[in-house]
Amino acid sequence: MTTPPLRLFFALPLSPELAAQIVTWRSQYPHAGKPVAESNLHMTLSFLGAQPRGQVPVLEAIAASLRPQAFTLCLDRLARWKNGLLYLAPSQLPTELTELEHRLKESLLAAGFTLESRAFRPHLTLFRHCHSLPAIPPPTFDWPISEFTLFASENTAKGTHYKALGRWPLLPITTT
Ligand code: ATP
Ligand code: MG
Repeated sequence: MTTPPLRLFFALPLSPELAAQIVTWRSQYPHAGKPVAESNLHMTLSFLGAQPRGQVPVLEAIAASLRPQAFTLCLDRLARWKNGLLYLAPSQLPTELTELEHRLKESLLAAGFTLESRAFRPHLTLFRHCHSLPAIPPPTFDWPISEFTLFASENTAKGTHYKALGRWPLLPITTT
């Protein structure tokens, strides 16, 4: 019997504290669309889609080899795409984020994974099915990134659940 494939992606997870802060802030806009569950808030780095379970150790080895630098992301843009996603994004992209995404992508491609050719557009989805951008000042959330995660996206009776299969720390910033 073959086991079903996993739906996999690498992402930056939020701490429960920051997720709670963001959810408290967005609760002022209850009609903005369908909210993403608090425990599902994240920023995708690389989406792999359906993969055999046997690929998980390969992905773990790639993740462990990266050893990226820690950084802080300042989420200070509120924006909406035509597909109805309302999201937070950084107006300044730290080079550490660009580098992490780039190196992860290069390693995945070198290992034979097929990835989207679209450019990386870092975002943290707040609502889906949002019809218009709320006319509100954007917030500022400072998000210290200390790890990245390999998630399996699972469909459950309660909705989509992301199961962390592995977490890798980012190297602390050292000052000399
Ligand atoms: P659901 O699709 O069940 O409503 P979801 O979108 O949160 O929930 P997934 O579709 O499994 O769950 O997606 C997991 C993550 O990967 C999300 O950040 C999603 O935006 C991203 N993602 C999904 N499909 C793609 C894709 N084709 N290309 C790039 N990123 C994707
Ligand atoms: Mg989806």
